[in-house]
Amino acid sequence: MPQLPSDFVAASNAALQLILFVDKRAASKRQNQQVQDYLKSIEPSHSWNLQVADVEEQPYLAEYYKLVATPALIKLYPEPRQILTGANLVAQMTALWPRWQSALTTLINSQASQNGSALASPPSVKLMELVDQVFLLQQENTSLQNQIKFKDRIIAMLAHDLRNPLTAANIALETLEAQLSDLPPQRGQESNLLRKLTHHALTQTQVIERMIVNLLDSTRGNCAAIQIQPKEVDLRSLCLEVVAGLQSRFLNKQQTLATDIPSDLPPVHADRDHVRQVIINLLDNASKYTPTPGVVRLSVLHRTMQKVQVTICDNGLGIPKEKQRHIFDDEFRLDRDKDCEGYGIGLALCRRIILAHYGQIWVDSTPNQGSCFHFTLPVYRV
Ligand code: ADP
Repeated sequence: MPQLPSDFVAASNAALQLILFVDKRAASKRQNQQVQDYLKSIEPSHSWNLQVADVEEQPYLAEYYKLVATPALIKLYPEPRQILTGANLVAQMTALWPRWQSALTTLINSQASQNGSALASPPSVKLMELVDQVFLLQQENTSLQNQIKFKDRIIAMLAHDLRNPLTAANIALETLEAQLSDLPPQRGQESNLLRKLTHHALTQTQVIERMIVNLLDSTRGNCAAIQIQPKEVDLRSLCLEVVAGLQSRFLNKQQTLATDIPSDLPPVHADRDHVRQVIINLLDNASKYTPTPGVVRLSVLHRTMQKVQVTICDNGLGIPKEKQRHIFDDEFRLDRDKDCEGYGIGLALCRRIILAHYGQIWVDSTPNQGSCFHFTLPVYRV
């Protein structure tokens, strides 16, 4: 039987690479033993390298090598790959061994003459481990994806179901507010308090409603682009409408909400409801992260022929420079704000909405001085 010069093999570290696939059956165990005994009789022992894989424990490996039967012995190196199966593996190996060894010798000699003594290292059985890891990661990935889908479905169901009682509570509060405004003035203090409380309750139901809308949107898949239905939108009236709706909330927090919106603003090509959501989220954040008494300003600028820019500035806590590029990532929150209400999905959602409009969104901020969030929308072309 031709054999490799032992010092050559040791120096080059080149060896026949074999994988034996077995299962738990007795016949498989027997063949495994026979193969191992045969290899032990081969000298030098470092001229071959055998890995044994149990197909039940590593089914992905069997899948990778497209095995249809076990036991099976695969000669991986030198190439070409060869697969032996059947009841007489040792007999087949014995017949093939001289050919395998001489192929290895030829390879070593030709590589040595080309590169001096440097040999390309054989595709070692590290490959098996890598394949192993890749399949395990794939399995883990699939299981995590399923868990996320399940979680998203539950959140979507809950968010959806929460909306009905919330709408009912909203209608009841609106009716109450209307009736209170009709009360005779002589009920003075008492009705004032009732009015205030009802109004506060109404504002809070609107906050919950917005959180639900955000939750629903965020479960619609982070990678999927948001579906928008852009139309001609009067951005000035939209901004003023949002500001009017939030004014009392700012007042309650002793914050000033100011606007600077030109009256000759061109219409934008946008999805009104989604843009409203962006403005509300940014104003909500501005209020949330600005200590009392604070000033928040919403301004709009007709920046170029094609773009209109909306800017919401506050004089609040600000965002550290190194965190600013992460601020629009999913579930990102500053450690400082972990105890505030919220889930870190509002800004991620704003980004998705603005990207769906082919706009841009970004932040300028100086810690302890304040933040300005800007986004652009396309001008509506007739
Ligand atoms: P949430 O407010 O629910 O945590 P967001 O996605 O809206 O989620 O915001 C992500 C994080 O960005 C917040 O947790 C906060 O740390 C920071 N942040 C957002 N807006 C401001 C702001 N105007 N001023 C300071 N920090 C802000």
